[in-house]
Amino acid sequence: MRSSDDGTIHIIGAGLAGLAAAVRLTQAGRAVVVHEATAHPGGRCRTYFDHVTQMEIDNGTHLLLSGNHAALGYLHTIGAAGLLEGPSNADFDFVDLHGGALWTVRLNNGPLPWWIFAKKRRVPQTRARDYLSLMRVMWTSQDRPLKELMACEGPLYKRLIEPLFLAALNLKPGNGSSKLAATLLRETLAIGGKACRPLIAPDGIGNALVAPAMRWLGERNVPVKLHRSLHSLIFANDRVSHLDFGDERLPLGPNDTVILAVPAYVAAMLVPGLETPSAFCSIVNAHYRVDPPAGFPRMIGVVNGTAEWIFALPGRVAVTVSDAGRLLELPREEVAQMIWRDVAAVMGLSPDTLPPWQLVRERRATFAASPEENAKRPGAETGWHNLVLAGDWTATSLPATIEGAIRSGNRAADLAVSHQTANKVAA
Ligand SMILES: Cc1cc2nc3c(=O)[nH]c(=O)nc-3n(C[C@H](O)[C@H](O)[C@H](O)COP(=O)(O)OP(=O)(O)OC[C@H]3O[C@@H](n4cnc5c(N)ncnc54)[C@H](O)[C@@H]3O)c2cc1C
Repeated sequence: MRSSDDGTIHIIGAGLAGLAAAVRLTQAGRAVVVHEATAHPGGRCRTYFDHVTQMEIDNGTHLLLSGNHAALGYLHTIGAAGLLEGPSNADFDFVDLHGGALWTVRLNNGPLPWWIFAKKRRVPQTRARDYLSLMRVMWTSQDRPLKELMACEGPLYKRLIEPLFLAALNLKPGNGSSKLAATLLRETLAIGGKACRPLIAPDGIGNALVAPAMRWLGERNVPVKLHRSLHSLIFANDRVSHLDFGDERLPLGPNDTVILAVPAYVAAMLVPGLETPSAFCSIVNAHYRVDPPAGFPRMIGVVNGTAEWIFALPGRVAVTVSDAGRLLELPREEVAQMIWRDVAAVMGLSPDTLPPWQLVRERRATFAASPEENAKRPGAETGWHNLVLAGDWTATSLPATIEGAIRSGNRAADLAVSHQTANKVAA
């Protein structure tokens, strides 16, 4: 039952943090309105029809892991759990473009990492004791660049740690935050393969995480207002008193609460004195309309190439390049060709026949996951009684990921409910 005498919770931003908050609050019977600046929900997680390649593509092929419990819980609630796909075991295929070696890292399911002791399961040319460096990272007490805790060279680093951490941190791992890496390790490798199965949405990440949430909210009459950009927050005493949308200044009632689920750089402009991460890293995704060879693995990590992860999808191939600043200033066609050469080499296709392609360059894909930027992440509470923050850039202890965004939305929703409850008791 919707209990609007508790007040309304206004969620600003319909990215995954905002949508997760809306879903959780609706489940808790709260009155919610979502305000989104653009024409589409989903924020940095989008699927759309691309007219150049004549196919649906994602702004970036998003990878989740089976240990992402908040994301999986959210998918379950919105009835979309079946839209992610992955292997039944945590197997990761790799290819080295220098020399063409192919290998598969096969984690065992339980927490005792016996895969490290099995030559056929661990990274070729590594010894079991090499993996001890990961323990040192896991129990780090201070946040330091990873290169101060582990050697950023050698087969284990080049063939496993760099590809995995680069994808998760979206920053050259040596410069990455040891604290964020430690959380990742504790939530994945330390639990075992059952938390590390890679999951992707073959029919589009927006079709799995965003469209079903919009349907779910629609069925419950939760308004998600598009083209509704918040211009400013107006404060009176210790509260937000009005939401200023430019053409409308919406007064807030005594029990109304605001969840600000916008990107870090927007939050920094809207909330006086708020410190947020201010350095960002880009991700480049290349999409090719081509049938992957039959039997080709769903995803493969590429070492010593421009391409880093290649995804073989129905009728198309998508490639992700993280921390891709070096590619932003090059001509688009040149980048598409460079990446295609790697794809062709890995898939045994012609490097000279570039299929229809599209390149998506997200300049501010994530905050830079360095110790300095990690230290700037604020918690969800603010100095204003009815204002709560959400977003992958808030202090979730995870890097900027879907899991972090959804956890932040859940936490903001819980805080908004407790603010309303406290208000009711005080009244
Ligand atoms: C290319 C790419 C690849 C990625 N790959 C992965 C991956 O493989 N795995 C993974 O876990 N994560 C990945 N991520 C990260 C993941 O997409 C983000 O962590 C997550 O989508 C962030 O959600 P959010 O809700 O915090 O922020 P956002 O998605 O940025 O949502 C913020 C919303 O606020 C809206 N907004 C902004 N200003 C206003 C305003 N003034 N008024 C109203 N609304 C406003 C925006 O339009 C947007 O919809 C990737 C990101 C990118 C860009």
